[in-house]
Amino acid sequence: MQPVDALVDALNAFTPTVLASYPTVALLLAEQAERGRLKVGLREVWTGGETLSPAVRQRIEAALGCRVRNSYGTSEFLAMAWECEAGQLHLNTDWLLLEPVDEYNRSVPLGQPSSGVLLTSLANTVQPLIRYAMGDRMTMHPDRCGCGSPFPVIDVQGRRDDILRMRGLTGDVALLPLALSTVLEEQAGVFDFQLLQRDDSTLVLRLPLAGHAGREALKCCRAALQSFAVAQGALPIRVLGELGQVVPRGRSGKACRIVAKGG
Ligand SMILES: [Zn+2]
Repeated sequence: MQPVDALVDALNAFTPTVLASYPTVALLLAEQAERGRLKVGLREVWTGGETLSPAVRQRIEAALGCRVRNSYGTSEFLAMAWECEAGQLHLNTDWLLLEPVDEYNRSVPLGQPSSGVLLTSLANTVQPLIRYAMGDRMTMHPDRCGCGSPFPVIDVQGRRDDILRMRGLTGDVALLPLALSTVLEEQAGVFDFQLLQRDDSTLVLRLPLAGHAGREALKCCRAALQSFAVAQGALPIRVLGELGQVVPRGRSGKACRIVAKGG
């Protein structure tokens, strides 16, 4: 949520050895390192919360000069899987059950991609989670990993939202997808939406709501997005609305909610 310059200054002052963040944030910081702005001697970068593509991993590793370790987690459980020395994600099945299922919540065989997962936490007895449905697509592999771990290897197709690069006073200002989602959810109370970038100063917000409720929600979202963009250092932006639209529901892993220009 912080402007990039403030984040970079804080990291330079703190000089961390390990940095944990979303892939989109790590990518943004890698760009800052390439420009010579970010100067931290990191030992490892831990990523999670979004899909980490091989290209993004390579760029982060090259720019920050250290290894990236990916993980897979959720707000309801935190880290559900971690990356081993062989670069595979292992599911923490001593603490949870994660069932790959199809769109009707029927079990999907090993080796085949699911359309969702059901999470049962074996750790949290205060707020039990039993077969909690999440929209992540996952493949659980039948074979053991070469690293020797008995924990099952999984592939996850998580969120793939874009960074939006808007016009600022002295160049591009990057608006991060998770920050934009948080602004809309927490400040405008809107959870189902799609945000499309039309150009470097215009966004189009699609909402399922129509009529009076839609117009009120749009007004709220527009104010929240505009003040967030300006706080990040962008020049004032336009937010156009398209009401009564079919949009991805909630924080599902299946569809892009935030799409950059040309994306
Ligand atoms: Zn392994």
